[in-house]
Amino acid sequence: MNKDILVIGTGISGLTFAIKVAEENPKLSLTLISKRDINEGNTRYAQGGIAVVRNLKKDSTKKHIEDTLIAGDGACDTKVVKFVIEEANKRLDELIQWGTAFDKKEEQLDLGIEGGHSENRIVHYKDQTGKQIQEVLTAKVKSFSNITILENHTLVDLITDHHSKSNMNRCYGAYVISQEQEEIIKISAKITVLSTGGAGSLYAYTTNPSVATGDGLGAAYRAKVKMDGLPFVQFHPTALRDKIDHNVFLITEAVRGEGGKLRNSLQERFMLKIDPRGELAPRDIVARGIQKQIQEQEDDFVLLDCSEISKEQWKSHFPTIYNICKSIGVFLPEDPIPVVPAAHYFCGGIIVNEHSESSLKGLYAIGECSATGLHGANRLASNSLLEALVFAHRAAIDCIKSLSEPLPQKSFYNKLPEWNGDDYSKNFTIQNVKVLRKQLQEIMTKYVGIFKTDNGLKLAEKKINNIYVTVQSLYNKNKLTNGLCELRNMVSIAYLLTKQAQEIKENKGVFYNQNYV
Ligand SMILES: Cc1cc2nc3c(=O)[nH]c(=O)nc-3n(C[C@H](O)[C@H](O)[C@H](O)COP(=O)(O)OP(=O)(O)OC[C@H]3O[C@@H](n4cnc5c(N)ncnc54)[C@H](O)[C@@H]3O)c2cc1C
Repeated sequence: MNKDILVIGTGISGLTFAIKVAEENPKLSLTLISKRDINEGNTRYAQGGIAVVRNLKKDSTKKHIEDTLIAGDGACDTKVVKFVIEEANKRLDELIQWGTAFDKKEEQLDLGIEGGHSENRIVHYKDQTGKQIQEVLTAKVKSFSNITILENHTLVDLITDHHSKSNMNRCYGAYVISQEQEEIIKISAKITVLSTGGAGSLYAYTTNPSVATGDGLGAAYRAKVKMDGLPFVQFHPTALRDKIDHNVFLITEAVRGEGGKLRNSLQERFMLKIDPRGELAPRDIVARGIQKQIQEQEDDFVLLDCSEISKEQWKSHFPTIYNICKSIGVFLPEDPIPVVPAAHYFCGGIIVNEHSESSLKGLYAIGECSATGLHGANRLASNSLLEALVFAHRAAIDCIKSLSEPLPQKSFYNKLPEWNGDDYSKNFTIQNVKVLRKQLQEIMTKYVGIFKTDNGLKLAEKKINNIYVTVQSLYNKNKLTNGLCELRNMVSIAYLLTKQAQEIKENKGVFYNQNYV
């Protein structure tokens, strides 16, 4: 397969990018791949919404910029923060034009508030903002005849100079598992876009779906693409303690915005003793507050008391949460919700410039797998969907421009080698993969989670390295599978994250090492 552009990942960032390129230049050929069905990824689970300044009577871009910089704890790139927030309205208007519905109040967008925001500016659709966006973008992307969509296709490795025996420091596409055909195919492309999302699955408890295994990060790491900030993993303070269908379910911050109060097992409202902003302090502070309570009390959860929110409000604003809680016997608003913190968002990733291009020419990274400089040491709630929209737009413009510049000839792409190695076989051939994945998650949660120590990180490095060696040997001896491919990425990123964490000697944002308190 020989394409102008290969987009790997079909969440908000990959889909927005593809739509923009296809609208701008219908002659370009694009292929979009997703590991499962097109809709499965972090985007569809986003509940809270998108942070955009809409109420200019009370709010301003200046205030949103300030809130973002405060949350980022001095580590944001101010220039990036400024342009993302200034471009927010244009990008939101486009999303609305494409058919995305958002909740309204008296003909105006209904603006919610979340932790760390000084004003109401969260544009939302019930508690299903992500699902709404994902479905609209999916329908739109399917309307373009120059876009080929390949579901159930897994990125294995990027094609680089290493494969083509050239030295242009470029990316030339990717090797991809076709799960249906059970083979590894080569998709060569002039431009490759990683929009593969985060890596919450590195942890035992995560709000991310199981596809979030850091595959784009792993492939970029092997291609020697520059990466930064991996240890800045944001833990969401309030996930439902009980798993639903083996998945952790998020209780959006907007619930605390509407008046939800956190209480320990003695019914004390502990957050006010930790921060004057109480339950609406930035996520890292609330997550640590909860984790500390859990360590000090017998119960392995704290309670989210939502008695101030009326039943009508629950049903209209948070219908999914209302029904999920009901299904486990928590009847809102009377019953408190048992909650725990869970790995939620990767602030770091592939370093990109202001057009989302990485250190490898022809390779762009957008969305959660990228490190743009917007989030610094901690992402402000609801800034990530916004970041994806703004950078997808910028990447699309830059990408179209770069395609008119001199590029390798078609014959060069045709000559790129096929996948060198054994082909693909089904998951059940390697039972070890599941066990090793669980071990890795336990190590990460115990030693590289909300609270870290120098000794814990050293121990984690050793343990992760042992798993890495086993995975390498599995990889060398066996045919590649989807599960092995994911584990190979997870263990590489866990190792890099732990190494980077040991280099950080000061606590900042979401990063917290108890030796530096
Ligand atoms: C429960 C939850 C709630 C959230 N709420 C909010 C919110 O209210 N506001 C906000 O701003 N942010 C929120 N976030 C964060 C936000 O949803 C994500 O950061 C954002 O959706 C990421 O979009 P993305 O396009 O980068 O990746 P994703 O939407 O995660 O998509 C990743 C894509 O990559 C594909 N992929 C992965 N690996 C491979 C591979 N090897 N081969 C092929 N394809 C691959 C997947 O199949 C998928 O299509 C939330 C996240 C979660 C999990």
